[in-house]
Amino acid sequence: MADVAVPRGRNFPEVVEENPCIGCSAPCCRILLIPHPTPATLMDLDYIRYMLGFQGARMILTREGQWRILVEQQCGLLDSATCRCTVHGTSRKPKTCVFFNPYHCWYKRNFHDTNDPPDLIRISAQGLEIVLQHVRFDENCKISETPPWELVRELVRGEAALAGDNPAALTQIAPTAKSPEDTRSRQADR
Ligand code: SF4
Ligand code: SF4
Repeated sequence: MADVAVPRGRNFPEVVEENPCIGCSAPCCRILLIPHPTPATLMDLDYIRYMLGFQGARMILTREGQWRILVEQQCGLLDSATCRCTVHGTSRKPKTCVFFNPYHCWYKRNFHDTNDPPDLIRISAQGLEIVLQHVRFDENCKISETPPWELVRELVRGEAALAGDNPAALTQIAPTAKSPEDTRSRQADR
């Protein structure tokens, strides 16, 4: 009798039965990422340098080369004690949240319980100064060459280690797991 292959992984009902947000510290509600144009000139980079001079300011550079301003303040609509959205199920919940797909969640992958996010680089003022030494400009002060993403990551990591700048990973888990209908939502790339 021919061997029957044993199915691997969980089937559809088993997956959808489980809330993908269970055990997550909900960085989607604790971190605000504001899109920022990709710098193209010396003054664009200088403006980022200016912003990073403000206390607590950080930039994010994604593996895809997108820049974000990072604001580490939680949403005022989050009940931090229960880790639940207080406007869930009401018209007050932003559609940006309502329609976010929590499967393959970029937030969870990069901000929950990790100091070494796989898809982004957190850049401080000091880290940017190191990176800027590796950026080249043409005669019109337009950026002509930037270091590869992996090199930027190494440069920033080295600087952060020297400065002791190691942001604490978000690990605070909801005391009670979110109910399946309390699944978070965001724009697709976040
Ligand atoms: S949407 Fe993502 S970050 Fe937000 S609670 Fe769910 S898994 Fe965590
Ligand atoms: S899901 Fe609720 S608590 Fe989270 S960011 Fe959206 S509105 Fe705020």
